[in-house]
Formats: sequence, C-alpha cells, structure tokens
Amino acid sequence: MDAAEFRRRGKEMVDYVADYLENIEKRLVYPDVEPGYLRSLIPTEAPLEPESYEDVIKDVERVIMPGITHWHSPYFFAYFSAASSYPAMLADMLCGALGCIGFSWAASPACTELETVMLDWLGKMLQLPECFIAGTHGSGGGVIQGTASEATLMSLLAARCKAIRRVQATNSNYSESDVLGKLVAYTSEQAHSSVERAALIGGVMMKQVPADNSYAVRVDMLKKMMEEDKAAGLIPFYVRQHTNQNKACQGVDDLYMCVLQFCATLGTTPSCAFDRIVELGPLCNEENIWMHIDAAYAGSAFICPEFRPLLNGVEFADSFNFNPHKWLLVNFDCSAMWVKKRTDIIGAFKMEPLYLKHENQESGRSITFTHTHWQIPLGRRFRSLKLWFVFRLYGLQGLQAHIRKQVALAKVFESLVRADKRFEICAEVIMGLVCFRLKGSNELNQNLLKRITDSREIHLVPCQLSGRFVLRFAICARTTESSHIQQAWRHITQLTFELLQEPSH
Ligand code: PLP
Repeated sequence: MDAAEFRRRGKEMVDYVADYLENIEKRLVYPDVEPGYLRSLIPTEAPLEPESYEDVIKDVERVIMPGITHWHSPYFFAYFSAASSYPAMLADMLCGALGCIGFSWAASPACTELETVMLDWLGKMLQLPECFIAGTHGSGGGVIQGTASEATLMSLLAARCKAIRRVQATNSNYSESDVLGKLVAYTSEQAHSSVERAALIGGVMMKQVPADNSYAVRVDMLKKMMEEDKAAGLIPFYVRQHTNQNKACQGVDDLYMCVLQFCATLGTTPSCAFDRIVELGPLCNEENIWMHIDAAYAGSAFICPEFRPLLNGVEFADSFNFNPHKWLLVNFDCSAMWVKKRTDIIGAFKMEPLYLKHENQESGRSITFTHTHWQIPLGRRFRSLKLWFVFRLYGLQGLQAHIRKQVALAKVFESLVRADKRFEICAEVIMGLVCFRLKGSNELNQNLLKRITDSREIHLVPCQLSGRFVLRFAICARTTESSHIQQAWRHITQLTFELLQEPSH
C-alpha cells in the first residue's frame, strides 16, 4: 500500500467507523456465536501471496463483526464504561503514524514532555494536592500506565522495595529474601481482583479487610484486623521508621510480617463504594504503610466539584490512579497514575544501560523524565496525545457535562427500579452504576440475567453483594440517552413478566 492508496483507504475507513458508530444500536449488543466460531471462517495458514484490500475489508463484516460485543452501543450496560470519542480516535491514529517509542526524553522529547504536562493538567482538574504535581520543581508527578492493574502492581512493587530497604536499614543482617517472605499488604474484600493479583505477582501476602454495610472499608476495621493479627502473634511489630522496636528484633524469625501497603478503592467494581480514605490515610501515615488509591472508574468524576469531596484524604496517599480510558472520553489504553515522591518509584526500578543514556539525562527536572523507569515494559506509546486532543476539544466543562449526564441517567434507571415493587436497589447510587435485583432468591435473579443475556438486546453483568446475586446496570456508552434507559427497562420488565409466569415461580 503506497501513500496514495493509504489516503483513499484511510478516508474509507473513517467512513466505515463513523457508519458503524452511528448505526451501532441497530446491531444486537451481545454476539450470537459459539466458542471457536472464528477458526472455521478463516484459513489455517497465513497467505503466501498478498491479498486485495477489498477482500480483507469484506471479511471484517463476515468474520469479525459477528463476534463483537458492542461496547459502544447505547444498550451496553455491563462492567464499567469504556471511554470512546472521535478526538481520542484521531489522536490514536496520529500516535500510530508517529510510531515513536518514548521510553526516554531523547527517544522522543515531545512524548515525554507532553505526558508530564498532561498529567499535571489532569491532576489540577482533579484538584490533586500540589505534592502530586510535577510542575518544574515538584518531587511528585504522573505517568500514563496501560491499565489500573499495572498501576496497582507498580505501587505494590515500589512499596515492597521501600519496605525492604527500611527493614534492612534497621538490621543489615536481613537479606532481601528474608524480608520478602514476611511482607503483608491489606485491601478491601471489595477490591478489584487486580489488587490480589498484584500481591501474587509481587510475592506478598494480601489480607482482605471486611467492608461495612455500604461496602466501604473504615479505619476501625483495618485497625481491628491489624490488631488481631498482632494478637495472634502474626505481627510482633509494625515496621516504623521512628520506633525503637525495630532494634529489638534480633533474628529473621522475629520479623514475622511487616505491613507494606494498604490499597484503598474509590468506586469499587461490584457497587461503586468508597473506602473512607480520610480516616484510613492518617493510620497508614502513622504506621508507615504505603497507601495506594485505586479509583479506576470513579476517578474521572472527581473533575466535578460535587464529587471531589469523595477524594478528600488523597493527601495521605503515596500513589493514586484512575482510568481516563473508563470514563473520561479517552479510548483504551490510558491509565493515569501519580506518586507523591517519584524517587520512590524510580528508585525501585531504575535500570540504565548505556543505550538509554543521553546528554539531557534526567537531572531531577520533570521535563526530562524517563517514564520507562516508572513501568514494567521499556517501550511506551505516545498516549498523552489522546489526553491533549480530548482536553482541548471538550474542555473541562465538556468533560464535566459528560460525567453529569451519565450520573443523571443512572438516577433515571434507579427511579424506574424503585417504582416497581418487585425489585430492590442494593447499594447507594452515587455515580453511573445501579445495583438492583428482583426481590427473591439468587436463582430467580440468575434466571432473569440469563434471559437478558440470551436476548442479546441489552447487556449487563452480575455481582455478589452480601452473598446475594445482584444485577449491575452501568451507564456506559457516550451515546446512551434517556430513551435507551426507558427501552432497557421495558425489556427487563417484559422478561421479568415472562419469567414470573413460569409455574416454578
Ligand atoms: N480497579 C477497579 C476498581 C476496577 O473497577 C477495574 C476494572 O473495572 C480495575 C481496577 C482494573 O482496570 P484495568 O483493566 O485498567 O486494569
């Protein structure tokens, strides 16, 4: 394909994409295929001779579209939203064309510098405390990770490194592996599975703190759990920088466990609950525990002053993360992470072979960040372009309007559910997620969800709250309107009517 053909095919592709998105609601949101459907539709080997573009594009409808779950359909209400907007798609196209791999400042100065400034812009939109902003002289700063899971893992690994060094500073007899086996982290029982996974990867024991009736962790619960562990002989001492207790520790066996991290969630996956970070933060600071905040979904809403109080307490955190690729109109992947002290994270992972060095080497100046020291892979795409396009083309007000509209739509759905006495709301509706169920058994609700899924007209996923099977209705697509919510509810009540007609019910 030469440049002339690329121009033509590119314009056709833009038309194809615009047509797809404009007409998406005519497609059934959930695919009607069986596992393995695709293998029989394409050859078993890659072609030896080049094929024509026409043949390839024809196969998009024949092979790919039947197996697509249409995440951007206004009838998609599953998981959490996956952000999408035309400005972000255009920026991604430019990113693909530039194709630079921005691991260091020299590898593409614009890539490093725009990312640093965009994370500052975004941090200011969220009113993050000054200590998270890189600016020109700050000691904190932001980085774009691929996903919240990676941000959680990086924070855990950085906390692990810090804890190991701290323990070794109190007793140089401890080897890294002596300490590693004794580390424990805490998180909510409602935390996303990626938090537990980070601990698995990091070789750290993770303990789950019970949540209250609103599915949030409160400080007394974390405190109680840590005290119980201590009473059970699990934690003879907490590692604290300023106590003498550390010095009392003579051998490795005395060092049973040390608490390295508490991972708080703002906007839990099952029900969008908010851990009480205003209470938890001071305890973590006092006990020298790294507090990471995972606000993967809800973080976007903090750009609205009315939701910002839910982020109060972030000043106690060592790291904070949310996904603009969930709710801030920036297509996947773009997960924003800030640290208060970038030396904590860079210090843990810095590797500097000769081929990464350059004459404008990082000298503490934020504009020359080597972001690759903040992440697992070396290579990194120019993802901040998406933020730049979206921020400029929507403006803060446009982004706030998007969040507010989606929260208002969730309230519309909540009122429809509340008006029907056969149903109940299962958690407070704070943002764009409504947890609801038919009053009755788990089996009844499982059957209802099965009917919904089999109909393929709308798509929801379940969660478990207090042992009950609950349906999650998340406002996801940018194009969802009140009419789609009304239609979705009519569909749910029709399926409910049919279900309740069955003799077994
Ligand atoms: N944390 C929370 C609270 C989530 O809801 C999710 C996904 O929905 C994640 C983490 C994982 O996000 P990612 O796919 O960006 O790793």
